[in-house]
Amino acid sequence: MPTTPPRAPRAPIDALADIAGLEVRPREVLARHSTFRIGGPAEWFALVKTAAALGRLLAVVRELDVPFLILGLGSNILFPDDGLPGVVARLGGDFGRLEIAGTRVTAGAALSLPQVARNLAARGLVGLEALAGFPSTVGGAVYMNAGCYGTEIRDVLASAALVDPDGRQRRVTADELEPGYRETNLRDTGTIVVEAVFELRRGDAAAALARIDELNRKRWQSLPAGVANAGSIFRNPPGDYAGRLVDACGLKGTARGAARISARHGNVIVNEGGARAGDVLALMLEMRRAVRERFAVELVPEVVLAGELGHRWRAAA
Ligand SMILES: Cc1cc2nc3c(=O)[nH]c(=O)nc-3n(C[C@H](O)[C@H](O)[C@H](O)COP(=O)(O)OP(=O)(O)OC[C@H]3O[C@@H](n4cnc5c(N)ncnc54)[C@H](O)[C@@H]3O)c2cc1C
Repeated sequence: MPTTPPRAPRAPIDALADIAGLEVRPREVLARHSTFRIGGPAEWFALVKTAAALGRLLAVVRELDVPFLILGLGSNILFPDDGLPGVVARLGGDFGRLEIAGTRVTAGAALSLPQVARNLAARGLVGLEALAGFPSTVGGAVYMNAGCYGTEIRDVLASAALVDPDGRQRRVTADELEPGYRETNLRDTGTIVVEAVFELRRGDAAAALARIDELNRKRWQSLPAGVANAGSIFRNPPGDYAGRLVDACGLKGTARGAARISARHGNVIVNEGGARAGDVLALMLEMRRAVRERFAVELVPEVVLAGELGHRWRAAA
């Protein structure tokens, strides 16, 4: 009986190039997609424009069994100097839609949260003003339960649409995400946030816009301006501030290569130009060691340590 020879496995790039609604770039430098401006190339970088393309991309990732990372604006992540294997994907296209029905707003995960907040404030839809002062996509903010000035995304989130790594689509309420301080139960699951539904209030547009401006002014008084960084490096320990503890250890201003603990804020590391992930990690380990020795407090990273950086952090514990 004639047998059909087994099909040679497709090269990953071919499998990805076949997907409509997907733009694939091999060896895209991740430093371009990170506010830290640090990181080597992603093996494949994919811009995903439709839900169908996302489903097909996830199927290829499962078929080829390659690592996968979904990226937002890259404002809370440190990429390794050697880059990342597998696929790093960003949402765009259809994931950038905004629909307003009364006080209920459906926002695509790819949208910029500060832009959404400002846009809605200008229409007299209030509730997101405190979240307008830092770079973030809607999806990244839901994933991290981002927060500022006493407001967290959970406070205004009615529900979120998700896609699991196996391609299953589901909708969850904010409570079902079990949001805590800078985290949800999505952490490290590979589940993708594709849409958020916010329940806002009617308010005065001018007052809401003025509040955004005032909070931004206040915020930039303590943050380093005009230099690449990823916001807070560590979560604040209960009842205290990571920046205060680092400062008390005398570490503000300490540098490794072109990475420096900001002289303005002890919980921010800045890239003064050409810093390497290894430099940032060395500073983080130094901050953890000093705070542990002096205060017996264990600092926990807020910034996502991608790829091998996470292993290196845990191995050095
Ligand atoms: C100057 C500055 C100030 C900051 N201030 C604050 C602050 O006050 N409060 C605060 O909370 N944060 C702050 N941050 C950190 C950061 O802006 C937030 O954590 C932000 O929500 C991250 O969103 P992102 O889209 O950039 O995510 P990324 O940095 O791209 O990704 C972060 C994590 O989210 C995951 N992710 C991204 N998109 C999705 C998605 N669609 N579905 C599932 N997972 C996803 C990624 O896989 C990664 O694990 C600050 C950062 C900077 C640079």
